[in-house]
Amino acid sequence: MAKSVLIVYAHQTSNSFNAAVKDAAVKELEKDGWAVTVSDLYAMDFKASATRQDIKGELENSEHFRYGKETAAAWEAKTLSDDITEEQRKVTEADLIIFQFPLYWYSVPAIMKGWFDRVFTGGFAFSLDKMYDNGIFKDKKAMLSFTTGSMESMFLPDGINGDINVTLWPLQNGVLHFCGFQVLAPQIFWSPEHCPEPVRVAMLKSWEQRLKGLMSETPLKFASSGLFNLSFQGGFRLRPEVVLELETQPHGISTGHHIGKPLPPNNQLTAPPEGSTGTN
Ligand SMILES: Cc1cc2nc3c(=O)[nH]c(=O)nc-3n(C[C@H](O)[C@H](O)[C@H](O)COP(=O)(O)OP(=O)(O)OC[C@H]3O[C@@H](n4cnc5c(N)ncnc54)[C@H](O)[C@@H]3O)c2cc1C
Repeated sequence: MAKSVLIVYAHQTSNSFNAAVKDAAVKELEKDGWAVTVSDLYAMDFKASATRQDIKGELENSEHFRYGKETAAAWEAKTLSDDITEEQRKVTEADLIIFQFPLYWYSVPAIMKGWFDRVFTGGFAFSLDKMYDNGIFKDKKAMLSFTTGSMESMFLPDGINGDINVTLWPLQNGVLHFCGFQVLAPQIFWSPEHCPEPVRVAMLKSWEQRLKGLMSETPLKFASSGLFNLSFQGGFRLRPEVVLELETQPHGISTGHHIGKPLPPNNQLTAPPEGSTGTN
């Protein structure tokens, strides 16, 4: 059976660099036998705001509207709005999702944030006992592919914007890994507006090369759920014996779980070497 990829794409302009990156992915992946679906969010005029209109019919509690509870119940009852249901169908069919976007305010453009807010509903994308490495999408892969205005050096730990690993943490850990996805290393196109044409052409070539072997890449490493006391009583915090073991380690576990130690270098940019185990 053909592998299936969903490209969730957020750019307004068909001759933008983002469009060229998306088109290259479509072409290369189709050439490689993938079934490719693109959700072109601006072209679809995708609704970004999470509102009451996302639920068809009656609410469970119309006195006090709670978006999360109502959409989880509507997912169960199959009464989510048609646009959300359609995107959820595409997610279910995909083995891999590529999010293609220009970096806006250290994050995704609002239309893509709206896609996360509305498509990844409770029940469909997560539940209390299904998150992180026990997450619902643990058999799927996902990755960020994005352009920046900034040059790479501005996003180094001593650069004016601060460490890009910190910027990536909320999206890669808080959205993708939270829902269980195996997160592939991000593809970053640094400052296409401000670099010469040959550099842009070379960036596209290297993207095309990477696409050929995407599914055999080792995903990024995140802290395993097994390291935490997964109970309200335990506060979902690291287990004491893990904390003890970490005392001898040179780095924190991940960008977010730094436990007062230096961050593991480029934890959100590159996968650890094959066969590395343990907490560090
Ligand atoms: C609201 C907002 C917030 C932002 N926040 C941030 C931020 O937090 N951090 C940050 O770093 N940046 C930020 N930016 C900048 C933004 O990320 C960049 O402007 C964007 O990533 C550039 O990508 P693009 O596709 O729009 O480039 P374009 O301007 O579309 O393209 C760049 C160049 O590539 C050329 N090109 C197109 N196709 C090809 C091709 N096939 N081959 C070769 N060249 C080609 C184009 O002609 C153009 O010259 C922000 C911008 C906005 C509007």
